[in-house]
Amino acid sequence: MTPPILYIVIPCYNEQEVLPLTSGMFLEKLESLTAAGKISEKSRILFVNDGSRDSTWDIIQRLSAQDERFQGIAQSRNRGHQNAVLAGLMEAKDRCDITISIDCDGQDDLNAMDAMVDAYMDGCDIVYGVRARRDTDTFFKRATAQGFYKFLNSMGAEVVYNHADYRLMSARALQAFAGFKEVNLFLRGMVPLVGFKSTSVYYDRHERLAGESHYPLKKMLALAFDGITSLSVKPIRLITLFGLVISLLSFLGIIWALITALTGHSVAGWASTACIVCFIGGVQALFLGVIGEYVGKIYLEVKARPRYIISERTEEMQEDAPGK
Ligand code: UDP
Ligand code: MG
Repeated sequence: MTPPILYIVIPCYNEQEVLPLTSGMFLEKLESLTAAGKISEKSRILFVNDGSRDSTWDIIQRLSAQDERFQGIAQSRNRGHQNAVLAGLMEAKDRCDITISIDCDGQDDLNAMDAMVDAYMDGCDIVYGVRARRDTDTFFKRATAQGFYKFLNSMGAEVVYNHADYRLMSARALQAFAGFKEVNLFLRGMVPLVGFKSTSVYYDRHERLAGESHYPLKKMLALAFDGITSLSVKPIRLITLFGLVISLLSFLGIIWALITALTGHSVAGWASTACIVCFIGGVQALFLGVIGEYVGKIYLEVKARPRYIISERTEEMQEDAPGK
């Protein structure tokens, strides 16, 4: 059996500091996998420039001119990590047998790729890279990230614990995944829905080699919220349940109020009334917000705008490109 063609898909956003360091590491890994006969010589490293404002795209083009194993596509503007990964995977899926998506900052251990390819050879279509330890993350990042997975799962968005977007997917799994047309992307929650045989590979996570993280707490919270609302309607159910409980309590309250009024014990209960009005007002506003979030998501899905737009390609990626 001929070894599979592997495309390593790497999203890059303003990574001019880290790319010169990590591109060599990616190439070394590709070479060692090829030398071991695990992957085909036609394997490639595919960078996806996510509308960087620095010289990231120039670096990618230069790399590609030096070595054909480096290829790149550029998004027409910054669309975010998830869309960049999707663009790369969709571009790669017809050119290869397997893809591995990984961040470009060197945080994820490249050596896990060997085990991923082995798992593919053993018949797995999807292999999740899972962080065994998080020692190198700050305490804050570790705690928030752990909270992130727990919260997601409790809200009905099932994700593999401690798995980010470092994963192997076969072309077959990607063809099936292409049928998931949603615009609101939360890849790590969507991929398990594709099914097929899957497994996990464990690795240690390093520190970022250079540059800064693009995922501060605010963006993590946004991602968690997006993940939940794209994958589950559990929050709406919880709201309904909450509304039901409140209604029941209010009903009991009304009976109590009537009894006290009828027996002549009623007092000028301004404070309690005001409290209840404020409480209900706040709760309603919050819940309308959550429901509004879903309505907003539906709005975006109905418009079905393209999930990525590619503006530039390195030479090899121009062949058989859609729309050419
Ligand atoms: N990234 C991207 N578009 C963005 C933000 C990030 O393509 O709008 C890429 C970035 O270049 C990196 C990966 O997504 O390869 C993960 O980002 P980062 O390392 O900043 O996040 P962290 O690892 O700290 O969660
Ligand atoms: Mg990172």
